[in-house]
Amino acid sequence: MPEPKPIIYPWLRGYWAQLTRYLLQDKLPSALMLVGDPGLGLAALAKAFSNRVVCLSPVDNLPCGSCESCLLFNAENYPDFFYVRPEDEKDSIKIEAIREISASLALSTHYNKPRMVILDPADGMTSPAANSLLKTLEEPSENTCLILITHRLVDLPATIKSRCQLIKVNDVDQVLAQAWLSDEGCHQAHQYLSMANHVPLFAYDLWQKNALEARDSLLKDFLSLLHGRLDPILFAEKCFILKGLPVLKWLTSWLTDAIKYAHGSQEEQLINSDLVGDLKVLIEKLHLEGMSTLVDDLSRIAALEKSQVNQQLMFEEFAIQSYSITGQ
Ligand SMILES: [Zn+2]
Repeated sequence: MPEPKPIIYPWLRGYWAQLTRYLLQDKLPSALMLVGDPGLGLAALAKAFSNRVVCLSPVDNLPCGSCESCLLFNAENYPDFFYVRPEDEKDSIKIEAIREISASLALSTHYNKPRMVILDPADGMTSPAANSLLKTLEEPSENTCLILITHRLVDLPATIKSRCQLIKVNDVDQVLAQAWLSDEGCHQAHQYLSMANHVPLFAYDLWQKNALEARDSLLKDFLSLLHGRLDPILFAEKCFILKGLPVLKWLTSWLTDAIKYAHGSQEEQLINSDLVGDLKVLIEKLHLEGMSTLVDDLSRIAALEKSQVNQQLMFEEFAIQSYSITGQ
């Protein structure tokens, strides 16, 4: 049976070296904070590092995968490792969870390796939870390292930040990210990375969902709508079905690109430089004023994205508006 390998994404190797340097110098801080955008693999990095800390016989600065600690860690049964996250993505980390951790930290460790705690995301704590964590940070337990992961540093109290060693992950090597995505089997790594704002794991996720194909097909549908060959209600339904993909961003980027192109921008300045032929159709059918109106409509839909407003209905209004502009 192959030993499970820790995931250290290639674009994070420099940060891995930075983390493991603490161990090589025997200076593991009591609290670390990994700061970076979602989709970079920070949780995987924190877990791999925790595994490295508890491993009894690391090989080449990596966890061995086969010692007693690694086996327990990989089976998610290592008694001195805690991974705290909200029950579901939209939820927050509540004070009870922090209290539970504090209580566990008061006990002695099962092994003589440092105890590891990951909080993911730390900015997802309620303020009572953050206050409770602050006490733990002020009186660090012996032989324990907390790793706070945050995507929004500004949302964390300064008192917490000041007690952590900050590691800012903001230098993602696109060549490495693209090579990784290609190795995973993605043949359009460059396009997917660009569609995902150069965030590698988002690009991976979009590729898994065949997003490029979906985008191209939606653009065809949008053009059909403008030519009066597709019913606005059906177009809205197609947008709605693609929920989970950045449909609003696509529609907006086609229109803003067309506006820029109409104003004389060069192809290479556009997000969708591969779609210039289609953008010209948008300009011809909608004209500058119509396209600006539609961009405003889309930003209104985007602002209401997380509310209870019926999104399908909003797409219907957008589709009807788009078609009616072509007749003006
Ligand atoms: Zn090991």
